[in-house]
Amino acid sequence: MGKTSKDKRDIYYRKAKEEGWRARSAFKLLQIDDKFNILHGVTKAVDLCAAPGSWSQVLTRRLNENYEKLKEAKSDCTLIAPKIIAVDLQAMAPIEGVIQIQGDITNINTAEQIIAYFDNEQADLVVCDGAPDVTGLHDMDIYIQSQLLLSALRITLRILKPKGTFVAKIFRAKDVTLLYSQLKIFFTSVICAKPLSSRNSSFEAFVVCRDFNLPEDFNPDSLDTSISEFSKLKGVNGYIAPFVICGDLSQPDSDTSYPLDFEGQKFEYCKPTQSPINPAYEEAISLLSVINLGKDSASCTLQGSSMTIDDF
Ligand code: SAM
Repeated sequence: MGKTSKDKRDIYYRKAKEEGWRARSAFKLLQIDDKFNILHGVTKAVDLCAAPGSWSQVLTRRLNENYEKLKEAKSDCTLIAPKIIAVDLQAMAPIEGVIQIQGDITNINTAEQIIAYFDNEQADLVVCDGAPDVTGLHDMDIYIQSQLLLSALRITLRILKPKGTFVAKIFRAKDVTLLYSQLKIFFTSVICAKPLSSRNSSFEAFVVCRDFNLPEDFNPDSLDTSISEFSKLKGVNGYIAPFVICGDLSQPDSDTSYPLDFEGQKFEYCKPTQSPINPAYEEAISLLSVINLGKDSASCTLQGSSMTIDDF
């Protein structure tokens, strides 16, 4: 089935178009907000990895609705209008009321630009729907995704106000508990949310982290510290795991090439204790057409090529 017919069958894809959202992802944030009420009382928000902009649209619509309701109820002209900053590698069509920064969230300069825009004020909410271009190599995709999340967290630690909220895309993979533990250092509540609009077949989910609280003595700058400065950091900022060498100096060094006849012992070839069960080169060997029969295997060649068996 082609892409078009699949898209047509996707209710959220259709609804997004009907309701004027730039992407179906809008429903993920809407459903997270319906469940956790994360947008309540928010006036300053940062949308990381925002393009094409459906989460920024959700933020503008809901924050402005809240603002108008409050204004009506309180007739208070000192109320501050919502401020939203959207960041992405890609250029994004403008959205009224949203300040845009085109930049890489893994780059410290981007973090500094966001901070400058906030002009020493703090955000109530940081969201990140960042996703790398999927390579199809699962371990690689999961690793890059977790690095994006940590970059988003680095920015968050600098700009989120105490008790603030952080929401970010996460891939539920083998080592996801490590990420949860890292987030739990900074937030009282860390919940893994799967909105109904996020496909079941996808291992994508969202961490909803609430009640931000920077541990005492924790210095967010330490996350950007160079190795040379690292040793100056104290306590929670500069923990280094002990490094222990196992074995003593009388044993051979694994990086050195030794002669075959080593320490008076004559070299004798030994078969592997256990050959690979399903080696990657098996298919190549089965395709190998041995010519020049009767010759030593080292001189066998692949039909139509100059490769010898030693090339495997
Ligand atoms: N939330 C968006 C929306 O609702 O329209 C969709 C976000 S899309 C799934 C993921 C975005 O992450 C892409 O636009 C991509 O450019 C962005 N991205 C990936 N790596 C990034 C990085 N290092 N810095 C900034 N943006 C990044």
